[in-house]
Amino acid sequence: MRPLPRASDALIDHLRCQILTRELPLGFQLPPEAELIELYGASRAALRDALRQLEIEGLLLMRRGRNGGAIVRYPDLTAISRSLASVFTIREVPVGDYVAFSRLIEPEVAAQAAKNATPEQRENLTKLAELRTQPLGRLDAVSPSFHAELARSSGNGIYSTLLESLQPVLEGELRVRVFDEGHDERTRADHVQIAQAIQEGDAGGARRYMDAHVLKLENFLNDHGMMSDPVVPPEAWTRLLR
Ligand SMILES: [Zn+2]
Repeated sequence: MRPLPRASDALIDHLRCQILTRELPLGFQLPPEAELIELYGASRAALRDALRQLEIEGLLLMRRGRNGGAIVRYPDLTAISRSLASVFTIREVPVGDYVAFSRLIEPEVAAQAAKNATPEQRENLTKLAELRTQPLGRLDAVSPSFHAELARSSGNGIYSTLLESLQPVLEGELRVRVFDEGHDERTRADHVQIAQAIQEGDAGGARRYMDAHVLKLENFLNDHGMMSDPVVPPEAWTRLLR
């Protein structure tokens, strides 16, 4: 015997579909509760269940108070980043896995950016390359990141979505542990060189410089015996509480 679907499930699917097809546009405020109950023939409990679920999915913003209500929003990647970080902690994913992934993907992303970046993105990459980096100390603190902007500039929606979700977790978390003045300076010099190649539309150069950049990180982590450390150690979560 299959369990009956919850009354709220159909309503969740219906509302989610309306938001994702933009039938309910971004910023649209849903009618008050009594009207929604009438409109959808749902119970108050089912309606509240549905709204709560869509809030968790990042598709609705619940504003409390007298003029409050549910407003259509689009999900950002913060929730995904945090979920990924939890999975990495529980599965004890080592730093070496991150490095292997970066060596495979980052040079290709840099080459694609040299081909596809808009003039504004090329400018922005040059600016970000010259910025000083800081140890973040928080898993979800998104700094203006050279690597995230690079992924956006690749013109590939999978690269950009994936790397933007991973970047705050991996780069941010790792930066806490590898940060020192010399490392910061070398990173900046590498980024400037990569940004320069992208400005010039030099895909081969961008790929080569990025490969060398990620290789330096690999060597650094190897030299410091960090390759088998967990990429998001349990301590990272307690650091959030401080
Ligand atoms: Zn870098």
